[in-house]
Amino acid sequence: MRYVSTRGGVSEMPFCDAVMMGVGSDGGLLVPVAIPNVKDALPRYQGLSYPALAFEIMRLFIDDIPEDILRSLIEKSYETFDDPLVTPLVQVGDIHLLELFHGPTLSFKDLALQFLGNVFAYIPQETRLNILAATSGDTGSAAIASVQGQPEINIFVMFPEGRTSSLQEKQMTSLLSDNVWNIGIEGSFDDCQSILKSIFSDLEFKQKYNLGAVNSVNWARILAQVVYYFFIYAQLGAPEKFEVAVPTGNFGNIFAGYIARAMGLPISRFILATNQNDILHRFFTTGRYKRGEVHFSHSPAMDIQVASNFERYLYFQFASNTEKVKKFMSSFTRTGSASINFNTKTFDDVFASGSATDDESIDMIRHVHDATGYIMDPHTAVGVHVGKQLRNPAQPLVCLSTAHPAKFEEAMTRALPEETLVQDTLEQLRNMPTRKTVLKAEVDAVKAFIATCNQ
Ligand SMILES: *Cc1c(COP(=O)(O)O)cnc(C)c1O
Repeated sequence: MRYVSTRGGVSEMPFCDAVMMGVGSDGGLLVPVAIPNVKDALPRYQGLSYPALAFEIMRLFIDDIPEDILRSLIEKSYETFDDPLVTPLVQVGDIHLLELFHGPTLSFKDLALQFLGNVFAYIPQETRLNILAATSGDTGSAAIASVQGQPEINIFVMFPEGRTSSLQEKQMTSLLSDNVWNIGIEGSFDDCQSILKSIFSDLEFKQKYNLGAVNSVNWARILAQVVYYFFIYAQLGAPEKFEVAVPTGNFGNIFAGYIARAMGLPISRFILATNQNDILHRFFTTGRYKRGEVHFSHSPAMDIQVASNFERYLYFQFASNTEKVKKFMSSFTRTGSASINFNTKTFDDVFASGSATDDESIDMIRHVHDATGYIMDPHTAVGVHVGKQLRNPAQPLVCLSTAHPAKFEEAMTRALPEETLVQDTLEQLRNMPTRKTVLKAEVDAVKAFIATCNQ
């Protein structure tokens, strides 16, 4: 499989080069030139273990890692999960939840980052690799966990200072290895992400420090997430059709589902759920993609107004017309707003969307707990709230459960004051020493910091 940029400005490259490039050198995102159709292989996927299924899917997109090595990278990536199914599907009342939080840092980010960390370690590097990440809370710890102890890799993680949950911050800052630097940015996640984008677009700096990207701009992350959509199908017993509700921030998780569907998986519709940061909900209801103020919520991993993977979706919807993508993105960058016309036949209607307030998601946590005893996290609750509202009752509804509830003490105490959530790995963090550096939301401050740490 070869990869190209959504903006048409890079020449075709194989998977490992796409992983190393991270963000396209023309400012776009890397996408595969074709999406293989596996409809006929679906029966064969039934009954495969998670790693075996991951190998079947990923090999279609990776032809520059020998198969036996790819297989062992995948096996190593999912050995660290605490459930034999890796992503078990559980029935809760009249919906299904796909639990994506059984990895080392308890969010769905581990599914992709355990794999990406192993791929980075596999690809030979000429100089020390400096991974730079922006996180709204969960990517940071998952990325650190994936490269911790790799002697040839440094990792720098920017998070919005004071805006992640306290345990999320501890998960990052208690890792005191010499190759880990946590940076609290005085701003929002969007500020972190825009600093990241501008550092990656300084190609000279990027090359000098051999920068690697672990955000969902990196295609490897999307690819690894495609797998669990197929695993839903297997666990549901090959339904004719099903719907998936996804709590969404950066449009990475749901976009992986979109790829799975394009490969022939019978997902009838995606229910995109946002919190009060509803740029994507507004887009899917009006066709207008317009930046708003970031509001801080109980589901901090979704406090995002500029969804980086959205550009990949546009590329496929515009039938690979990179000029159209460029025009849309440059209008958005310049004015903070861009539109498409939903009435033209080119846009499909596989996305329904809605948003949930903090109060609504807290109510949903309580409601599901009262009715079934199941405790879900505040991000999952956003997906369940919107999913229940918009579902087609004639089809199974699967909601992606994106994090372990114990990560979000503050919100969970509000929702279920009588319950104490104890999760062993998190408990151990409480009294650990931590280390972080706080920087202003300025590109140059972060660049200077990276330079100093590499001296
Ligand atoms: C990252 C994250 C999300 C948002 O996923 P996107 O891929 O950015 O849309 C939702 N929930 C949790 C718990 C997360 O960590």
